[in-house]
Amino acid sequence: RSNYIVMSAVRSNSASTCPVLTKFQKDCATPTPYLRNVANAIADDMRAGLAVEGGGDLDMILTYVDALPSGNEEGLFYALDLGGTNFRVRSVQLGGKKKRVIATESEQISIPQKLMIGTREELFGFIASKLASFVAKEKPGRFRLEEGRKREIGFTFSFPVKQTSIDSGTLIKWTKGFKVSGMEGKDVVSCLNEAMEAHGLDMRVSALVNDGVGTLAGARYSEEDVMIGVILGTGTNACYVEQKHAIPKLQSNSSSGTTIINTEWGGFSKVLPQTIFDQEMDANSPNRGEHLYEKMISGMYLGEIVRRVLLQMCETSDLFGQFVPVKLSTPFELRTEHLCKMQEDTTDDLQTVGSVLYKILEVEANLNARRRVVEVCDTVVKRGGRLAGAGIVAILEKIEEETERMGSGKRTVVAMDGALYEKYPQYQQYMQDALVELLGDKLRHIAIKHTKDVSGLGAALLAATNSIY
Ligand code: BGC
Ligand code: MG
Repeated sequence: RSNYIVMSAVRSNSASTCPVLTKFQKDCATPTPYLRNVANAIADDMRAGLAVEGGGDLDMILTYVDALPSGNEEGLFYALDLGGTNFRVRSVQLGGKKKRVIATESEQISIPQKLMIGTREELFGFIASKLASFVAKEKPGRFRLEEGRKREIGFTFSFPVKQTSIDSGTLIKWTKGFKVSGMEGKDVVSCLNEAMEAHGLDMRVSALVNDGVGTLAGARYSEEDVMIGVILGTGTNACYVEQKHAIPKLQSNSSSGTTIINTEWGGFSKVLPQTIFDQEMDANSPNRGEHLYEKMISGMYLGEIVRRVLLQMCETSDLFGQFVPVKLSTPFELRTEHLCKMQEDTTDDLQTVGSVLYKILEVEANLNARRRVVEVCDTVVKRGGRLAGAGIVAILEKIEEETERMGSGKRTVVAMDGALYEKYPQYQQYMQDALVELLGDKLRHIAIKHTKDVSGLGAALLAATNSIY
């Protein structure tokens, strides 16, 4: 391989201090009092965003979802999920309280990179064509649409959307590396409608929802105490049940009851332990200056931060010998899943770490270098997990402030989903540590549950709840 670098024997790298690493670890530290400040600042921005539109870093979007699924939903509904690395279609035959989910089928399609930065017509055309072929394959015996009805869709669109009703909304901004043109100010649902029409598909979007809302709804279907849906995947977000009287910007006569708020917490930007590496990554991102919390805690970015730190360690302290590996200079070459793989390694000589570095970055790393790499991974993952924990605490405490649930002995369930949370045990553990440190004894009223892939079910349920028939 052309850019494979031969190490000059094993350089004696015995001095175990590396100034870049030491400084980085110091800058990333999140001791308990610091985390407490983060949680308080997030809660302040939640209140500010509930008071007025654009009042704080968090959009605190009104979702028009007042009623979560009850279990009585019946009929055939669909879910479309767009927002991360994959695009998913699902059909769900709902059978009411007794029979629940009678049949469900789904298909996952990875989104070609070029569609994420292409045009509206290309992206929605792709979605509509996949949806059309999914519906065409449907087995009539398994799924049954009631006569006179159109097929109704719950559309999970996992980007910040200014909802104008349950079935309409405009994109506020792109995140997670998406930059599709022709969407500014356009209604997301009409984009899909146009494309479906062009493909001769006669379906109707009955609910437009965020993936956090979908997760909350899907999890609520099987458990009454679910109050929060958190996504920790490519991107991150949290949605929760709020009391209407605590939402000053909600202009409605009736302030009783509850509604779901999409926090868009990824937009939080205060009291964050930002390092030079975070700043440089942000400066090179398509959504510069935006979603800074997301850029510290979600799956799309952790690997990239590590890569940037390693690159500097390479340039200043010969991490991998005298050369800077080509791959290490390539943005996003090192991914969060690679960090996870390396952190799984418990062998003395860090075999797996060595082979991941060889395979992904095309470097041969001696034991000392491997150890350092793991330390960098751990620092980034620890910071991310702990900051995510602080966010969850902010929401739990906000709910408690309005409802005194914990005080009254009630349990609160946080429904978690996303590949980062699911597949990275160390991240999960660090998040849990933060919850313990910040909530202490109160944690006994809280259950953190992994509710895998329920957002599609949730979206289909919300389509049912908001069916026009
Ligand atoms: C988006 C959210 C979404 C989250 C998780 C973020 O980038 O802004 O709307 O819920 O990713 O998918
Ligand atoms: Mg997703």
